[in-house]
Amino acid sequence: MSNEELLTTMFAVHGKRPMDAQFNEYLKIFDQLGNDKSKKLFKHVRDNEDKFPTIKQIWGIIKSMSLIQNKQAQLESYEDCYYCGGVGYIPYLLSPKRDERIINYTTEVYACKCSAGRDVPNSIRRYFDTFQDLQFTETLEGFNYAQLVTKKQREYCNKLNKEKEDGRVKQRGDKRGINTLAENNLRETLEKITGRNS
Ligand SMILES: [Zn+2]
Repeated sequence: MSNEELLTTMFAVHGKRPMDAQFNEYLKIFDQLGNDKSKKLFKHVRDNEDKFPTIKQIWGIIKSMSLIQNKQAQLESYEDCYYCGGVGYIPYLLSPKRDERIINYTTEVYACKCSAGRDVPNSIRRYFDTFQDLQFTETLEGFNYAQLVTKKQREYCNKLNKEKEDGRVKQRGDKRGINTLAENNLRETLEKITGRNS
């Protein structure tokens, strides 16, 4: 099986249909490993992993199986990107208090400037071309920036829900706007990658 076929099967085994951008990220890793090692990785994931591994987890598995040597460690350099965690996407938090299209805090995704971000489709706006600075300047130990934004989103959502319960915020009707299917897919992926669901 080619790397592409291996990966397609790996997603299918876990009942997943990947987005193109996501598929390509995994494929890059498979291509870096080469076909023989990719087969080993595929078998391991198929037989031992209950959940489909994130990019970060994939690298952990690769290391634990000693599929890469130290001199190949630079292969994973893009994985260490602080802004996106190696996924290529950086979330931007939108507030329902400022954005009429949404009824709760949600995130829009932008492409990162790292190598993973450069492979993100051109239809996705570039974060650092769009904004001068990061939306949040603080850092949180053990969190990359994407995870920090996800954490913020959760906190703001909780706060807003509390305010709604208290009747301090007038609720708007359920407007459909920004939460298109594609947007949801991206967010779902991002949440998976930033560990929100794990
Ligand atoms: Zn990045």
